[in-house]
Amino acid sequence: MSGAAYATVREALEAELEAMRAQGTFRRERVIHSPQSAHILAGAVGGAVVPTLNFCSNDYLGLADDSRLIAAATRAMEHRGFGLASVRFICGTQDLHVDLERAVSAFLGTEDTILFSSCFDANGGVFEALFGPEDAIVSDALNHASIIDGIRLSKAARFRYRNGDMADLRAQLEQTSTARRRVIVTDGVFSMDGAVAPLREICDLADEFGALVMVDDSHAVGAVGPGGRGTPALAEVDDRVDIFTGTFGKALGGASGGYVSGRAAIVAMLRQRARPYLFSNTIPPAVAAAAREALAIAGAAGDRRDRLRENAARFRSAMTEAGFDLLPGAHPIVPVMFGDANLAVAMADRMLARGVYVTAFSYPVVPLGQARIRVQLSAAHSDEDIDRCVEAFVASRADLA
Ligand SMILES: *Cc1c(COP(=O)(O)O)cnc(C)c1O
Repeated sequence: MSGAAYATVREALEAELEAMRAQGTFRRERVIHSPQSAHILAGAVGGAVVPTLNFCSNDYLGLADDSRLIAAATRAMEHRGFGLASVRFICGTQDLHVDLERAVSAFLGTEDTILFSSCFDANGGVFEALFGPEDAIVSDALNHASIIDGIRLSKAARFRYRNGDMADLRAQLEQTSTARRRVIVTDGVFSMDGAVAPLREICDLADEFGALVMVDDSHAVGAVGPGGRGTPALAEVDDRVDIFTGTFGKALGGASGGYVSGRAAIVAMLRQRARPYLFSNTIPPAVAAAAREALAIAGAAGDRRDRLRENAARFRSAMTEAGFDLLPGAHPIVPVMFGDANLAVAMADRMLARGVYVTAFSYPVVPLGQARIRVQLSAAHSDEDIDRCVEAFVASRADLA
């Protein structure tokens, strides 16, 4: 009988969803009725729409609503159309895609670049195409979900080291002696903590053990390092990293798209073998053109990166003074720790009622008992915006005391 199987499944799913609500781990989305920015119009689904300060986007440089990106996207749609109705290798490659790949290579100082429709797909395709059963992948325990999934798709032996723990990385590498190829994989910036990976030490260990190095710099490219070139440039090891992955969905305009950049033969092989590249459309012309414009702007945006750093420092010092428990660091990701998931959610709700939008993160996105509100600064925030955010934290804490 049609629907009978679903009736049983539904009952189980509804019980599970109810348990998530009870634990405070059920995610509800707010709806934005304006362009993405530091200042937005937002509300709950079906609720009132109000002016809101946004402290939870990855729009680190304030480019998501930049008129130059919008103009580039509009021009591209006028001259190259809306869609391509094909994957890259059949008939889905325009000059705009080739131009963007070259621009990423020039920006990062790499030999070549291949686009993906997201960084999730870039990480989903890179391992299976390069590493087989004879090989070993050594991965930081806090790496992004897309890296974890990408590694699962490859048949290589997997090793995991404790977050940023170089003694453990060495111990894991010592177990890879029979591997044909070995690669160390890390996020440049860990997205839930704002911590920067110890890339210099990682490259030293890679040299010692003959391993490739892969860095996913999604939370850094554009925002961090000299010229916005990310964490490898910050650590002065960009010439020692073999594989860079990243996104256009954060500092670089925030739309979508990702890439793998790095050594020429690696990128050439991905063009032949990476399944998300072979079997899925790439980013549309408008997004490719705007991403290229974003790279050009970001390369020359030292003033915005200075502002971003100052904003993060201002927020950190005011929150510390107000007695909040922050994870240490300098990145514009600033985790405010609450421990209990329901408390973090209640705080975020109170903050929103005060016109400040922040998001609570709980299990399974972060470890159980380490619920937090992850505040993200942007170069687009003013001093007054930051002060209002801190005041809202103080007042919301008082509400719940
Ligand atoms: C955001 C992020 C991704 C996913 O990027 P998309 O382009 O949105 O798929 C991948 N890796 C890391 C480290 C990220 O922070």
